[in-house]
Amino acid sequence: MNSSETSTGILTIDLVKLTANWQQLKSRLNGADCAAVIKAEAYGLGAARAAIQLCKAGCKEFFVAIIDEGIYLRKALSDSCVDAKIHILGGHMLTGQVLVEHNLIPLLNSLEDIKYWLEKYPQAPADIHIDTGMTRLGLSPKELKTLKKEPGRTIGLNISHIISHLACSEDTKTGMNLDQLEKFKKALTLFPGCKTSLANSSGIFLGEEYHFNLARPGGALYGINPTPGKPNPMHQVIKLQGKILQVREVNAPQCVGYGATYKIKKKGRIATVGVGYADGYHRSLSNNGFGFLGNICVPLVGRVSMDLTTFDVSNVPRHLVYPGALIDLIGPMNPVDDIAKAACTSAYELLTSLGPRFQRVFRENS
Ligand SMILES: *Cc1c(COP(=O)(O)O)cnc(C)c1O
Repeated sequence: MNSSETSTGILTIDLVKLTANWQQLKSRLNGADCAAVIKAEAYGLGAARAAIQLCKAGCKEFFVAIIDEGIYLRKALSDSCVDAKIHILGGHMLTGQVLVEHNLIPLLNSLEDIKYWLEKYPQAPADIHIDTGMTRLGLSPKELKTLKKEPGRTIGLNISHIISHLACSEDTKTGMNLDQLEKFKKALTLFPGCKTSLANSSGIFLGEEYHFNLARPGGALYGINPTPGKPNPMHQVIKLQGKILQVREVNAPQCVGYGATYKIKKKGRIATVGVGYADGYHRSLSNNGFGFLGNICVPLVGRVSMDLTTFDVSNVPRHLVYPGALIDLIGPMNPVDDIAKAACTSAYELLTSLGPRFQRVFRENS
């Protein structure tokens, strides 16, 4: 859409690394299947391109959040991946006909959903979602009790998977994981012989008893560290670069940006880049973020504004800093987890915030 000449920011998405990440996660599963969660445009990177690539590598199970994402994905995969299974994490049941038309698998979140689906589309596959501790979507403990008393309520249903979701899988010290695992196992006794799915990205790293039949990683596919506090086992998938629009020689004392929040203390140079919070380069990075020019760190100074951000490039050799040169806003030296931390947010929010003004460049071959 946006060209490299005209856009002031470039988001490079390495589909080869994405595939390698999926393969790595799959290899950790000792034979269980590995899906790909590509909701919210594959966490902002591009769902169609990601899915087509992953499908080539053998991924056949995809999860999106909403029905429209599922319809879009079904179309995108209509040539290259007709056998893809597309699950809708947050669908709702008033739209059953649309789900069936596009061959989408809903998550049934209540006894009412189950009743509706069984009456209307008993042949069409559906997942059953059990709430084991998120208190968000899924069958409640009370509904499970009812189901225990009245097991007939699911007879005739074409169940794809029984699913639950972990609240704290990236935290290996909490008791929540084991608690949810036990609740899930207990619920599964109500669905003998059904295929099962619990683990998200970090859940895969909690151990084999969390793997069940199908894992549902999202973030780790895109390079987010599923094992915070330990080295990141995943490849970095994205590079985010901002174009320098102008370089200014400055004398101290002088202020930078809105609110004059940064004061220059000695003679140097400021580079202004054409990326701002409107692009998802969070305002909370003001006076706290950092970019890289090659392997030289350039601190973000002043406030991030809507379309512009300023970096102190005094330490960079002059021939590297010129209008048109690119600063790595996220890259090998400053991966997505580090920038998210500097922005006081999660890498998930950072990725999904990246806006439409970036030129998205996909790398497909090694
Ligand atoms: C988003 C989501 C996932 C993927 O989680 P990651 O932490 O990104 O791996 C899996 N399951 C459900 C229900 C989700 O909502």
